[in-house]
Amino acid sequence: MIKVKNITKKYGSFTAVEDISFEIQEGEIVGFLGPNGAGKSTTMNMITGFIEQTEGEIEVAGFDTLKNPKKAKKNIGYMPEGVPLYYDLTVKEFVTYMAQMKKVDKKEIKEKVQKVLKETGLEDVQNKLTKNLSRGYKQRVSMAGALVSNPKILILDEPTVGLDPKQVTEIRSLIKSLGKDHTVILSSHILSEVSQICNKVIIINKGKIVAIDTPENLENKVSTDNTIYVTVEDNENKVEQVKGQIEGIKEIKLIQENEDKTKQYMITGEEGKDLRKLVFEVFARENITIFEMKKVDVTLEDAFMKLIEGGEQ
Ligand code: ADP
Repeated sequence: MIKVKNITKKYGSFTAVEDISFEIQEGEIVGFLGPNGAGKSTTMNMITGFIEQTEGEIEVAGFDTLKNPKKAKKNIGYMPEGVPLYYDLTVKEFVTYMAQMKKVDKKEIKEKVQKVLKETGLEDVQNKLTKNLSRGYKQRVSMAGALVSNPKILILDEPTVGLDPKQVTEIRSLIKSLGKDHTVILSSHILSEVSQICNKVIIINKGKIVAIDTPENLENKVSTDNTIYVTVEDNENKVEQVKGQIEGIKEIKLIQENEDKTKQYMITGEEGKDLRKLVFEVFARENITIFEMKKVDVTLEDAFMKLIEGGEQ
């Protein structure tokens, strides 16, 4: 659906994006993840045809963005960062105006506007002035404007910035549902957001791609060992003696002794080894009572930091 080939963007002598390439397939929800200034907006703006790349080629739905800009643009609905709305228009008027701008067939405008208002949960507020809406609803209106021509691709720049937690949850689930019928690209500097919404993550740092993968794979990639935390009642101090019975164990370490006389241990296994089952069996056999057992997963945050640090070396 989108092919980005060896794209570089320079602002004067400053290189904002350097030789990046990736492809996005139909139906994917892709997240551009990176710190501020990484080059996310620049990349999105080149895909939308809003700015021109210095080098390289971009294809959108089979059309080159420089050679066939109109046809390429027709496939994209773009929601810029912030919410630039015309505040003296009602929700319905604004979305209708966007439909006219995008040259939606006059006979179809009414129907398409109502369809998109329904899709974005705006039916009940369609006659309100956009300026009187909450930030979350303004964001929806902006999204409706991007969607009204029914583009195949939806590009959202930082869609949840400035929203309160409830609005964030609502917008995220809206994006997920839009992902069923559209290819979606969004940018974010929030890791949990990308891992919740997207099925593919492109991590960008200082204008370069440092990783492209699924959120799950990125987490696995940087997971070097398997650590579990176990809280036990062990009056006879047997835990450290049973170490030899747990195959694949690397280390067992007392972390804390609690007031109720339970103790928490950190148990580290060899790479790729999940020790939970074995620890449970051995401890049960030795009459060590387990109060709690938890696995510590590497988060996307860890993956992100590791990849970015690696990229800078
Ligand atoms: P992000 O969206 O990841 O925060 P941007 O794509 O907005 O990053 O910016 C990437 C880099 O390019 C930044 O260092 C930014 O200052 C620079 N930049 C962006 N737009 C311009 C411009 N019009 N002129 C000069 N530098 C720019």
